[in-house]
Amino acid sequence: MALVVQKFGGTSVADPQKIKAAAAKAVARHQAGDRVVVVVSAMGHQTDHLIELAGQITPRPSAREMDMLLSTGEQVSVALFAMAVQSLGHQAVSLTGSQIGIRTDSRHGRARINSISTAQVRTLLDGGAIVIAAGFQGIDQHGNITTLGRGGSDTTAVALAAVLGADLCEIYTDVDGIYTTDPRILPVARRLSSIAYDEMLELASLGAGVMHPRSIEFAKKFGVPVMVRSSFKDVPGTMILPADRAKPRPASGVALARDEARITVESVPDQPGSSHTLFSALAAAGIAVDMIVQNVGHDGRADISFTVPSDDLEEAVESSRKVAAALAAGGVSHDDGVAKVSAVGVGMAREEGVAGRMFRALADAAINVRMITTSEIKISVLVGRADAAAAVAAVHAAFGLDQPTPGEAGDAQEHGPKPSPLEVVRRLEGMEDLAVEDCVLDSSQALVTLLDLPDTPGVAADVFDEAGRAGLFVDMIVQSHPRDGRAEISFTVPATEAEKAGAAARAIAAARQARVADVPHVAKLSITGVGIRSHAGLADRLFQPLTEAGINIDLVNTSEVRLNVIVAAEHGAKALAVLRTAFGLLGGRERSAAPA
Ligand code: ASP
Ligand code: MG
Repeated sequence: MALVVQKFGGTSVADPQKIKAAAAKAVARHQAGDRVVVVVSAMGHQTDHLIELAGQITPRPSAREMDMLLSTGEQVSVALFAMAVQSLGHQAVSLTGSQIGIRTDSRHGRARINSISTAQVRTLLDGGAIVIAAGFQGIDQHGNITTLGRGGSDTTAVALAAVLGADLCEIYTDVDGIYTTDPRILPVARRLSSIAYDEMLELASLGAGVMHPRSIEFAKKFGVPVMVRSSFKDVPGTMILPADRAKPRPASGVALARDEARITVESVPDQPGSSHTLFSALAAAGIAVDMIVQNVGHDGRADISFTVPSDDLEEAVESSRKVAAALAAGGVSHDDGVAKVSAVGVGMAREEGVAGRMFRALADAAINVRMITTSEIKISVLVGRADAAAAVAAVHAAFGLDQPTPGEAGDAQEHGPKPSPLEVVRRLEGMEDLAVEDCVLDSSQALVTLLDLPDTPGVAADVFDEAGRAGLFVDMIVQSHPRDGRAEISFTVPATEAEKAGAAARAIAAARQARVADVPHVAKLSITGVGIRSHAGLADRLFQPLTEAGINIDLVNTSEVRLNVIVAAEHGAKALAVLRTAFGLLGGRERSAAPA
C-alpha cells in the first residue's frame, strides 16, 4: 500500500465536469489500495479574477487582505472536490492550509513554508478518507493566512509529500510532461520519460515553467519522486528523480529566457569590493540579476556585465549608473534586445567537448554569441532576441534532442526505490531555508584568457574546436560582452596542462590578431546546495565576505544548485574559509585531484 499525493492545477479543476473527472482519478487510486492526499489549485482563472476584483476596490490592497482573499479560491475548489469524491461513494475531507498546519513565515504573497504538521492528515487517512488539501496557502505564527506566490500549489503538494514520506507525488496538469524544450517554440520537442531534479531546477527557473521552482527544491531536498502528467490524456508522464537515476546524456533540455536585457558597467577598477558595491545596490533595488560576467580587462580595470529581466532594465540601469559614478568607473551600456539560451544536462560534466558542440551549432546557424557562462550542468549563451528561436532549434538539434536517447527504454517508472533526503535537511530550521551542502576548493586549475578576438559568429566555436584538438580538458568557460568589436573568452584547464594550454591559446590568437593574457594558476571554489539563487542575498553572502578578506574575484558563475568562483591561487585557502563561514558550514575540505 503506497501513499500518493496527487495535485490538480487550475485547468484540471476548471469546471464541475473536470472536478468530477479529477475526483475519479483520486478514487481509482484509493480503490487500488493506496492512501491518497489530493492538493487542489483554485478553479481555472479564479486567482486572476480575485486579483482583478481587489483592483476594483483599491489600486493598493494590503498584502494581508490579498492573501485572505486569494486563499478563498482554493477553499472553494477543495470543498467541491471533496463533494465529488463523496458522491462517488468514498470518504473525503477537505482541509485549508491552516487546518492542516502549514506554518509559513509572514511574507504575504510569497511566504515560505517553515513546517507542516502531519497528525490531522494521518488520522484522516487512517480512518479511510481521501484528504483534499488546499494548495498555495498557509498560516503564519500570528494566525494570519499567507499564500506562497503564484503557482504555489505545486509547492504545497511536494512539501506535503515530503513530510508524509509519500511514495509518489503526481502533478496533474494541462501538459503531458516535461519536454526537451517548449513545443510552442519548437514543435519537434520531445517529452522526456525522466529528468533529474537538478536539471528540472535549472529548467524551471530558466523559464520552462511547467512547475513552481520551489516545489522542485522540496523534491530534491527531501527525496520526493515526482511525476508530471496530463489530467486529460491517459498517457505516461515524466518522472523527476535524482541525477544518478537519470538517463546518461549530455543535455536533457534547452531553455529560453526570451526577455532579457544586458547591462555592462565599463572600466570598473579591478579591485576587491567593486562587485559587491554593484550587486548589493541592485539587490537593494529588488532586482534579480541573472548571468554575471566579468572580463579580465586591461590597466587594472574590468567590465562587469550582467543580465536582468527586461522589465527591470530601467531601474537596473539607474542603479548601475550611480554605482559607476561612485566607483569612478567608465560608462554604463545596455541592450534590451537579447535572449538567453541554455542547454542543461547532468551528464555534460562527464563528456568532453559539449560546450564546443553547442557553439559550433550556433555558428553554423550564423548566430553571434554575445556572452557565455558555463557551469557543471548548464551552458548559457546570450544572443540577439531575433535569433532566439533559431538558436533554440540549433542547440536542440546539436544534442539530438529530437531523437530518443539510446537506452531510454520507454516510459516513466512510477515505482522505483525512494530517493533519500539530503544530509543537510536535518540541520535546517525551516523546511524552505537555504540548504548549502558543501563548499570545496579545487586548486588544480589554470585560467586561459584570449583578448581582442574578433566579435563574429563562430569565434567561440573555433576556439574550443582548437582547444579540443590540442587535447585540453576545458572546465569553466566565460565570454564577456564584446566592446569595440572585440571579444574576450576565458576558460579554465587543469594546471598540469597550463603550458600546453598557453601554447594552444597563442596559436589560436596569432591566427586572429588576438592576444593571450598570462596563464595563471587559479583556485576554484564551488558551493553546492539547494536554493542558492532563489534565496538571493548573493551580494552579501558571496561578494561581501571576499571583499572584506581583500580577495579579488576573477570569474563567477551562478546556477540554481551551484556557485563557482575563481580567485588567484594564493587566495584559495583563505577564500574557502571565508565562504564556509559566510554559508554557515564548519571546517574545510580541499579537493586535491584534478577534476574527474
Ligand atoms: N491558485 C494559485 C495561482 O493561480 C496557485 C496555483 O494555482 O498553484 O497562482
Ligand atoms: Mg501551475
